[in-house]
Amino acid sequence: MPLRPIPLIAGNWKMNGVTAALAEAEALATLVATHGVARGGEVALCPPATLLMAMRERLGRSGIATGGQDCHARASGAHTGDISAAMLKDAGARFVIVGHSERRADHGETDEAVREKAAAAVATDLIPIVCVGETESQRLSGEAVRVVERQLDGSIPDGVPTEGIVIAYEPVWAIGTGLTPTLADIAEMHEAIRRRLVERFGEGGHSVRILYGGSLKPGNAREILAVDNVDGGLVGGASLLAKDFFAIISAL
Ligand code: PGA
Repeated sequence: MPLRPIPLIAGNWKMNGVTAALAEAEALATLVATHGVARGGEVALCPPATLLMAMRERLGRSGIATGGQDCHARASGAHTGDISAAMLKDAGARFVIVGHSERRADHGETDEAVREKAAAAVATDLIPIVCVGETESQRLSGEAVRVVERQLDGSIPDGVPTEGIVIAYEPVWAIGTGLTPTLADIAEMHEAIRRRLVERFGEGGHSVRILYGGSLKPGNAREILAVDNVDGGLVGGASLLAKDFFAIISAL
């Protein structure tokens, strides 16, 4: 029986939060420092890039990591408005979310583009959180597993260290809607993702963390995080308030 990877709960603030919101990060740091994290889990917050440095300072030595929400595939150069993996690293980040469905939709990011971003992150010693997930119509037509397998194949670079990459399964229709798949559907998808990772990376596939994301809340976290092959969560809305996010962390 392979060892379970160390779980990770990552908060994705998306395009929310100005300086005042750092009070929530500070409150979270106090909660984590006081109560600890179950199962030796890791916690990360991914704020807008403008807050990364200040958040890193406020989180201090609480053990909470920070992450970016996207990075460019190139190391530097004429790419107005973009941020490189090295810049995120310089701002204290340990993780970077790549291929979130909102970026795939808003910016037309393809699997290939996501793969290049993930490779840039790994080359910079950041851990990419590579997002995959089906749309509602793909689920309804029974294609969900096939779609996610295809995204996995296309979005993960070759030759990555399996502990140095995280997958987040986020059904698009569950993001920000309050809807979640059944526990059986989550179990089926996470098992399919694990199988694909093991086919591609051998035994190392067992050390890749597979997060669930999409309307993860204090009220459903315990049952979802207990599903086989769910190694943590990627949390949007419920990561904005320290008390909600900590309730999810405590459900590990
Ligand atoms: P949600 O977002 O928790 O608000 O549904 C999750 C995500 O998009 O990462």
